[in-house]
Amino acid sequence: MVQDPVCKMILEKDEAKATVEYNGEMYYFCSLHCKEEFVKDTEKYISKKQKRPESSGC
Ligand SMILES: [Zn+2]
Repeated sequence: MVQDPVCKMILEKDEAKATVEYNGEMYYFCSLHCKEEFVKDTEKYISKKQKRPESSGC
């Protein structure tokens, strides 16, 4: 199971209508529309989820 980062829908990899590889990560989308949104504004969709472990200083 994977999550569409644009609409937050959970889907099976097999069901994904589109995929994008970005920074070595695969992203799966429920539709081409979601993929286009992601490509237009990639940072917006991934920056929330991904934190850099090395900068979690204490
Ligand atoms: Zn979607």
